[in-house]
Amino acid sequence: MPDSRVPATSDPQAFELGGTSQLRQCGIPCPACRAEMVFCELGTNEFAGCVSCKGMMFQQPVFARVSQRLRNQAQLPKLIPSPMDARELKVRRRCPTCGGRLETHAFCGPGNAIIDTCFPCGVIFLDAGELTKLVQAAGK
Ligand SMILES: [Zn+2]
Ligand SMILES: [Zn+2]
Repeated sequence: MPDSRVPATSDPQAFELGGTSQLRQCGIPCPACRAEMVFCELGTNEFAGCVSCKGMMFQQPVFARVSQRLRNQAQLPKLIPSPMDARELKVRRRCPTCGGRLETHAFCGPGNAIIDTCFPCGVIFLDAGELTKLVQAAGK
């Protein structure tokens, strides 16, 4: 059985938790590193991914579906969340769509992952590794 946790950096088309990309550019710069993001899929859900830093950007309703589904699968080992890194909360980024400031906050739920949200646009940006953290977190 293939291991979906192979480090994503080895393949530009591979993203976390089985996400894949055809490397078709979507014209949106990555909020973290400014590289142009590409259209990606995770199952039947679309997201924009950054080939360079492996950040992932979701529409809010898509993100809700994806995180719920992945957590329900529960095939990943559950981990006790590591303490949140408060420094991450100080990173200020701009929304690549509207130019407004992304709200950086802890994901409401277990996992202590830091996510960036643009509420007016309804998009969520996750740094590489954050989605895995959310899914692996023990608890409900
Ligand atoms: Zn990036
Ligand atoms: Zn925005």
